[in-house]
Amino acid sequence: MKLRADLHSHTTYSDGKGSMEDNVRAAIDKGLHTLAITDHGFGHGFFGIKRRNLPRMRAEIEELKKKYPDIQILFGVEANISGSSGKLDLRREEMELFDIVLAGYHFGSISFRPEDWTTHLLNFLYKFFGVFKQTARRKNTRGILLAMQRYPFSILTHPGDKGPVDLRLIAKVAKKRGIALEINERHRHLSAEDLKELADLGLNYIVSSDAHRPEDIARVPQALERIREAGVPVSQIVNIEEEE
Ligand SMILES: [Zn+2]
Ligand SMILES: [Zn+2]
Repeated sequence: MKLRADLHSHTTYSDGKGSMEDNVRAAIDKGLHTLAITDHGFGHGFFGIKRRNLPRMRAEIEELKKKYPDIQILFGVEANISGSSGKLDLRREEMELFDIVLAGYHFGSISFRPEDWTTHLLNFLYKFFGVFKQTARRKNTRGILLAMQRYPFSILTHPGDKGPVDLRLIAKVAKKRGIALEINERHRHLSAEDLKELADLGLNYIVSSDAHRPEDIARVPQALERIREAGVPVSQIVNIEEEE
C-alpha cells in the first residue's frame, strides 16, 4: 500500500515545527502527488492560525505552487468543531478561502457557548475519572452531526479520539454528506476495532500523517497496520494505491 496524497499536515503557522516549504519538500522526497497544509483553525486557543495571516499564507502557497509544479499543493485548514453546538470556528463564507477544509473536535478550541463548555468538561471528566460517558457521547455526537449537516467540509479528523461518540451514526451521516472519515497516524481513533465495526457501511476513508514535523509527512505505518488488521479494502481508502 502506498500513500499518494497526504491531506493533513501542520506548519509553524500553528503547532508544527517546519515551514510550508519544508513540508512541501518532504512530500516531494516521499513521492506524493498531493500535499495539503492544514494548520489548526482560528478558534484553537493555543495554536490557531490568525485571520490576519491568511493573505500571507495564501501568497506563500501560490509561490510554492510556482516553485514546485510537480506536486499538487492545497491550502487547507483543520477547523475546530466547538462542542455540542456543532459550530465550526470559521464562517461558511470563509471556507471558500481554502482549497480543502478538514474538521475535528479538539480540547484546545475556545468557545463561549455554554453547551460547548459543558462538552469540554464532560470529556475531561470522562477522560480522567471515567464518569459521564453516555452524556459525553451524546454531546460529542450531536456536535459532530450538526457540524456535518451545516458545513460542506471534506474530512472528519480523528473521529472519536478526544471523547466517546456514536461512531455508526456519525459514519452514516458522513457517507450521506460525502465526508471522508480519517484514519490518523497520531491518534488512536479510528482504531482497528472502529474500522471493523463500520465494515458493512462501505465508507470512504482518508489516511493521514497529521505530521507536525516535516520528516513525518507521509509516515503512516500504524494507520496502515490498523487497516490491514481490520481488513479494509484498499478501494475504500481514497488516497492509497496498491503497490505494483
Ligand atoms: Zn486534530
Ligand atoms: Zn492535525
